[in-house]
Amino acid sequence: MSDENRRDTAQDLESRRIARNSSRQAETNNARIEELERKLGKLSLITEALWEIVASEANYGEPELLQKIEMVVSDREQRLGKKLSCSRCNMLVAASKEKCIYCGAALADKTRSSPFDE
Ligand SMILES: [Zn+2]
Repeated sequence: MSDENRRDTAQDLESRRIARNSSRQAETNNARIEELERKLGKLSLITEALWEIVASEANYGEPELLQKIEMVVSDREQRLGKKLSCSRCNMLVAASKEKCIYCGAALADKTRSSPFDE
């Protein structure tokens, strides 16, 4: 076998290995997407049921619920967009973080918190 043929064979093997890994990765990603879609569907059902309970039992109409959603969106944007300067390294860090992403120091501002923040 010539050097050129040996090189081609090695490249073919490498290409096949990459194709197999890509295919496996795609299968894994598809499985994860399906799981997330299943969870999202379940959360959507739970939310709709809670929405209806609140609307009927708490006598809280759809306009008030929609207004509350707008307030939550606005509060969340403010919380997540807020930046603090780290007291140790002085870098600007999202206030929603517990620790500085650059040096790990705890961030002093505790106004951020919502159980729904990451
Ligand atoms: Zn820092």
